[in-house]
Amino acid sequence: MKIKLFEEGSIGTNCFIVYDEASKKAFCVDVSDRISNKYFEFIDSKDLQIEYLLLTHGHYDHCADVLRFIARYPLAKVVISEADYQNILSSRGVFCERERFAAPAVLVNDGDTIPFCGQTIQVIATPGHTSGSVCYLYLNHLFCGDTVFDGSIGRTDLPTGSFFEIMKSVAKISALGDYQLYPGHMGVTDIATQRRVNSFFR
Ligand SMILES: [Zn+2]
Repeated sequence: MKIKLFEEGSIGTNCFIVYDEASKKAFCVDVSDRISNKYFEFIDSKDLQIEYLLLTHGHYDHCADVLRFIARYPLAKVVISEADYQNILSSRGVFCERERFAAPAVLVNDGDTIPFCGQTIQVIATPGHTSGSVCYLYLNHLFCGDTVFDGSIGRTDLPTGSFFEIMKSVAKISALGDYQLYPGHMGVTDIATQRRVNSFFR
C-alpha cells in the first residue's frame, strides 16, 4: 500500500492518495478548493481506480473542488460525516458552500467501517475543529484532518468549533496506539511523537 501526498489549493491542504499498486484500487482523502493538474496526472498515470473520496471535515479548503473530482472519477463515492454534511447544507462560515457540494454523499458516523482492498477503513468521530470532524483509520495510518497537526491542534474559533470537544478528541487519538498521523496541513508524523512534542497531548 502506498500513500502519495499533494499539497493543494489556496491554503496548502494535504490531499492524500492511498493506493494498492497491484490491484490499482485507491482512495483519496480531502481534495482542497483547487485540485492541480499534477494531482490528476498522478492518478491517471498510475491508472488508479478511485473507490472513495474520504472527507475529514466540511471546510472549503478540504472539499470545495469535489465536483471537479467527481466529474473526473464518477465511480468514486464521496464520504463525509453526517454532522459536517449538515453544516455544509447550512453554509456556515468557512464550510464549503452547498452549491459547490452538489454531489451525492455517503454519510458516516463514529464506528462506521468502509470496505477497501479486503480490509476496512474505520471512521472515528473527533469533533472540535468542526462538530463533524472525523479521522479515518486504515491499517496503521490515521488520517486526522485538522484535529491534530505536528506539534499543535486545529483551531476551534470557527462555527461549530469547540476547544472542550477537541481536547477530548485529542485524548481519544492519543489512546488509539502508535499509528502514523496524516494531518490536513503541514507535515506527516505519528502518535508516539506527538505524545512527546505536542503539549495538547498531555
Ligand atoms: Zn478545517
